[in-house]
Amino acid sequence: MTAARKPSQQDPIADPPQRRSAPRKDPADKAKPARPTPLARLGLHTDWDIALHLPLRYEDETRLTPLRALRDGEMVTTDAVVIETQVQGRAPRRQLLVRLHEPEAGDAVLTLRLFHFYPNQLKTLQPGVRLRVHGQVRQGLFGWEMVHPTWKLVDANAPLPSTLTPVYPATAGVPQSYLRKAVAGALERLVWRDTVPQEELTRHHLPDLPSSLRTLHAPPAAALPALEAGAHPAQRRLKFDELLAQQLAQQQARAQRRRWKAPALPAAAEAHSLPAQLRAAIPFTLTAAQERCVAEIAADLAQTAPMHRLLQGDVGSGKTVVAALAAAQTVAAGWQCALMAPTEILAAQHARKLADWLEPLGVGVAWLSGSQTKKEREAALQRVASGQAQLVLGTHAVIQAQVRFARLGLAIVDEQHRFGVAQRLALRDSLRAGTQGSGLQPHLLMMSATPIPRTLTMALFGDLDVSAIDVLPPGRTPVRTSVVSADRRDELIARVGALTAQGRQAYWVCPLVEESETLDLQNAVATHAELSAALATRPGQGAVQVGLLHGRMKAQEKRATMQAFSAGEIGLLVATTVIEVGVDVPNASLMVIEHAERFGLSQLHQLRGRVGRGAAQSDCVLLFTSPLSPTARERLGAMRELTDGFALAQKDLELRGPGELLGLRQSGVPGLRYADLAQDTDLLEAARDTAQRLLVAAPEAARQHAARWLGEGFDWLSA
Ligand code: ADP
Ligand code: MG
Repeated sequence: MTAARKPSQQDPIADPPQRRSAPRKDPADKAKPARPTPLARLGLHTDWDIALHLPLRYEDETRLTPLRALRDGEMVTTDAVVIETQVQGRAPRRQLLVRLHEPEAGDAVLTLRLFHFYPNQLKTLQPGVRLRVHGQVRQGLFGWEMVHPTWKLVDANAPLPSTLTPVYPATAGVPQSYLRKAVAGALERLVWRDTVPQEELTRHHLPDLPSSLRTLHAPPAAALPALEAGAHPAQRRLKFDELLAQQLAQQQARAQRRRWKAPALPAAAEAHSLPAQLRAAIPFTLTAAQERCVAEIAADLAQTAPMHRLLQGDVGSGKTVVAALAAAQTVAAGWQCALMAPTEILAAQHARKLADWLEPLGVGVAWLSGSQTKKEREAALQRVASGQAQLVLGTHAVIQAQVRFARLGLAIVDEQHRFGVAQRLALRDSLRAGTQGSGLQPHLLMMSATPIPRTLTMALFGDLDVSAIDVLPPGRTPVRTSVVSADRRDELIARVGALTAQGRQAYWVCPLVEESETLDLQNAVATHAELSAALATRPGQGAVQVGLLHGRMKAQEKRATMQAFSAGEIGLLVATTVIEVGVDVPNASLMVIEHAERFGLSQLHQLRGRVGRGAAQSDCVLLFTSPLSPTARERLGAMRELTDGFALAQKDLELRGPGELLGLRQSGVPGLRYADLAQDTDLLEAARDTAQRLLVAAPEAARQHAARWLGEGFDWLSA
């Protein structure tokens, strides 16, 4: 419950109610009370910020442990009397030894070791004075010891605190005592107004906010286990509040979008319509899951409200054809469709597939990418602007400012979560600029092959409609997964040789070296050299062509390598994770992943999805290097047992948390500071439920709640 969050700049909770709706006043009016810098350094600017600066953990100083009852390693509070104080050693190893006993109870002795002390402390710690010390006890050479305990002088029978002692996240130079005082002051000054109506709290069994915050800053001792589990009602209240704010914002954004207009692209019904021709040209029958998604999208496109839909489907589930049918419907209605992929390789692959399907049916196709020559690009731009190109394919080059669409009706984004924030914003702007002068916004279809557990979809994409292809096309044999020690690498190389001799193909994914693209690269290059050498000199068989693919290659080179692999000219492709998404070579039937223990489940699943695309039995070999951590062991075990991407994603969420799952490394889910999506599913459901009611029944309370949690600056209408 501690991830940093941008502090809200206002103090909405403390504002007198009438100011909420009053027009903006003179800025001087809003001047914050001057605060000492230590709090500012912690990002705490208002009483509300301070009240939300929750303890990292708690210490139990509510009970005294007699010296005779000490146990090794325990954190205890104890009262005892100084017998002797002694300075030992020389600087810098000087230490102060303070020996304590309990005069009324036996002969047990406790020695305090203090490495930092002041001369006047020496004077204070005279024999006979009584101390209350708190710290971890150890059985040392000369009996019980505490190194650097906290201590203070007390009288006999001095009262104990009745509540747990909070330990706050701090920065150097901000003492806990200072923070405790600041929090107490802030809690006292806050004028409490609960933005969540009592009936909602009752419904979801949640306490009110003021008492929740007070409890969290000074909980009773009995609350410790629940607090440590993150399940205390006061904690749940805060989690609920931030989830509610997020749900409100998303539902509001969604309602707002319904007021915008998009071109209605009716599903063409006649037998010779473009979608019908496309269906006739596709060499397979759509699965029921694909048909359902096609129908959901077709219905959305026919509306004048812009579609905002996420199409989720495991790797290989067949999203491309669904996208192609949406494109066909758009073009048939006389509008343009743009499809954007995160990498050149993927964009090229889509371009080829969609162009192969649609060009013969008379659809004009244009290609836009960063690696085009200026001339190629200008020609393409011209075709886009004139409307000659009805289908526009490419990387994010598609949404750059110079690109002017004549009549953009549908934008499709593949692997949408792989696009960075800047690119997503650019997409939003580009969609708004949309269809020149028409005042209409294009429909938006996002596709993701990273199956995301329902909780995360709700939390992150609550403003989207979701279609899921939850069944793989028929005729696939599930990929067999084995977990193999790296000691058996040579055997595996021989197996690759045998496999390629039969005309099949394989991938060999190189270890991911954290934080180092350079090392990744060296690794891939070295592995490529090693495997080429090993496979070049095999008696009785021709040499295996070994290709190399990594992120530093030029787009052109990458594309050439992928094409050679697709065409079967390369037998074994050594690659970094650049092949992770979308690459489709049905003849490849073996995937070797080195140092599989370093990958997350979702990533392994994506990689594994590169094979098993044809009818042949495919294998995925996860090579690991000992020793394995318990979670790594569990992850690899899950990979062997589970083939369903959604089940694996759920497991990944439990094992590593949402940040890792979404590739956000450590940053967690944006905007969530307290809630833990792996744990707090029920609260998310509750928040969604409350948000729906609040927006209808109490829109002003809803707005206030969102402002409190997301900041006044939060753009309530356009999020
Ligand atoms: P992804 O969802 O990962 O983008 P693709 O659209 O690339 O999946 O489809 C994977 C492979 O399955 C492609 O070769 C595609 O032609 C094939 N495919 C898609 N749908 C079907 C189907 N209903 N029946 C048989 N093969 C299909
Ligand atoms: Mg795909």
